[in-house]
Amino acid sequence: AKADGKSRWALYDPERNAREVARFTLSATMPAALERDEFYVDYQPLVGLHDGTVLGVEALVRWQHPEFGRLAPDRFIELAEETGLIVALGRWVLRTACQQARRWLDEFGKHAPFVSVNLAVRQSRDPDLVSDVRRILDEVGLSPHHLQLELTESAIMGTADEPLEALRALSDMGVRIAIDDFGTGYSNLAYLRHLPVHELKVAGSFMEGLRAEEGADPVDEQIVSTLVSLAHALGLTVTAEGVETPAQAERLRTIGCDAGQGWFFARPGPPDAVERLLRDQL
Ligand code: C2E
Ligand code: CA
Ligand code: CA
Repeated sequence: AKADGKSRWALYDPERNAREVARFTLSATMPAALERDEFYVDYQPLVGLHDGTVLGVEALVRWQHPEFGRLAPDRFIELAEETGLIVALGRWVLRTACQQARRWLDEFGKHAPFVSVNLAVRQSRDPDLVSDVRRILDEVGLSPHHLQLELTESAIMGTADEPLEALRALSDMGVRIAIDDFGTGYSNLAYLRHLPVHELKVAGSFMEGLRAEEGADPVDEQIVSTLVSLAHALGLTVTAEGVETPAQAERLRTIGCDAGQGWFFARPGPPDAVERLLRDQL
């Protein structure tokens, strides 16, 4: 009887079925949602560790779903990659973030942060990437220096030449390129020097072992400080992700890490939350 129950379970698992239906519904309704402006962007500061200034701001997309409420990107980015909608959605995020950067530039001048926008693997392979970026910067009237693009190691490393050429063109234009979640993929460290990259973002998973008090993980600490030295030797800046405590921020600062991002500094939020921080800095 038990085996019987199990096999029926395998045929019809109501929870799994509900998940599949939700996935299907989300991916089917995403194009219309983009038309209807259901997506919005939250911004999270990248903060300089030596003086606490907001250097940049990462754009993080959310979906205000009429039925399911506010959806985090883990719920829909992968689906958008599968259906290919990520290219249109990513372009929308890019334009929105550049428009925001332009407004900050008007208000804060030389204190204005750059915006850092995530690029999905599929976008990095899109033949129109470079012309899209150039057109958006032109339309918005933003200098390329106020834009950073974040790509994961898998989007950059071991790929065909074309995406690399696109990155080189973007970098030559003056756009900053960052490697996202650094240390979690199969980084080819020797290869790094040949890449048009300006910044490493060290994955938050290494921050757990970074504590000033007892019980800190010496391996995590060694990994982070090695990554920082390597990045600096290559002329790159380093931002630590997932900084949640003052102790972590302090350790990172003594290690020589350039910037931090995380709840300790600020949660992702609407533009006016960033503006309050920027005004405090003036
Ligand atoms: P990510 O690029 O690594 O972004 C950082 C994630 O860490 C964000 O999650 C952020 O809210 C979260 N976070 C920030 N500070 C802390 C902290 O102190 N502790 C912890 N535990 N987490 C922190 P979020 O917003 O849910 O985004 C998840 C992922 O979705 C992003 O990871 C990124 O890979 C992807 N994503 C977000 N927006 C976009 C987008 O516009 N395009 C693409 N292609 N991917 C995006
Ligand atoms: Ca990112
Ligand atoms: Ca990241």
